[in-house]
Amino acid sequence: MPSTDTPSRRAKETALFVPELVYFEPAALEYPKGQRILDWVKERGLPYRTTASHNRITNLPGDTELEQYKTAKRTLVVGLRKTLKFDTSKPSAEYALPLATGCMGHCHYCYLQTTLGAKPYIRVYVNTEDIFAAAKTYIDERAPELTRFEAACTSDPVGLEHLTGSLAETIEFMADQPLGRLRFVTKYHHIDSLLPLRHNGHTRIRFSVNADYVIRNFEPGTSRFHERIEAAGRIGKAGYPLGFIVAPIIWYEGWPEGYAELFDKLAKELPTEATKDLTFELIQHRFTKTAKTVIEKRYPKSKLEMDEAKRKKKWGRWGQHKYVYPDEQAEALREWITERIFEHFPQARIEYFT
Ligand code: SF4
Repeated sequence: MPSTDTPSRRAKETALFVPELVYFEPAALEYPKGQRILDWVKERGLPYRTTASHNRITNLPGDTELEQYKTAKRTLVVGLRKTLKFDTSKPSAEYALPLATGCMGHCHYCYLQTTLGAKPYIRVYVNTEDIFAAAKTYIDERAPELTRFEAACTSDPVGLEHLTGSLAETIEFMADQPLGRLRFVTKYHHIDSLLPLRHNGHTRIRFSVNADYVIRNFEPGTSRFHERIEAAGRIGKAGYPLGFIVAPIIWYEGWPEGYAELFDKLAKELPTEATKDLTFELIQHRFTKTAKTVIEKRYPKSKLEMDEAKRKKKWGRWGQHKYVYPDEQAEALREWITERIFEHFPQARIEYFT
């Protein structure tokens, strides 16, 4: 399928996120990061309030649940991370590193819709020193094994980096940890501030990529196809270990051409040195009945196909059935995409297809 990026589409860059409403926990303002965010908010004349706890934001503006959901996606809450016990994050890392919770993107299928429940607003944490101290303890406990931390389990930290700078701090912290590794995944292209950092090869930056059709139809509020691909090229040139998550892989009319175009474009963009240690993670689209109900409420016009009759039922580890593609379709997707990857990147590693 030919690219649909016309020159005018290309010219319109996905903007940095600017919240419409900001809450601060009073204690967050005792931290330099909290003060910096407050200055940023004041410079732009954004409305802000205080809240006793980042976990208890109620009464967001909006007459209906849907309007409140949309408001929440544009609401930023600046607080302290109090739980310093990290969740596990298999299979891609040992632990989830909590820099933020929630995301301004509107990907129809996003699992945060069910996992964040009634709290879809965006929380960022200013006490990064405490978070790093906890990470150091986890690293020491596992020595001499490596410990990997995933910073994008509950958010897209690149999309919030212009507000917090937390990812840059984490990359430099991890650069000094002989046994610590960082990884995160993003759908945003705002990576310029990460390019000059001292990373020591300890951070693997992955881009969530997809066929242009999937990005245009199911991922509003995120960076576009060509923006992500160009950003990946720049990250590769900055010497970071690089990876891609192709998710959700969707069966739509024209999918073979759509996915072939994705890997053609990536191959043209990536510098040779970045292709020697590339990783790919492949995840086919799946849904649960709970997710389907939420998606239909929040994105009623979505073209996302969620017909149980067309899917294979599988027992999911969250105690619910999930619906994946029948074996024949899943295998066709896996095979085609794997072939395209190795055609362009013979040294790449496919970590899993699920
Ligand atoms: Fe969810 Fe990622 Fe989309 Fe944000 S960018 S809405 S975290 S899938």
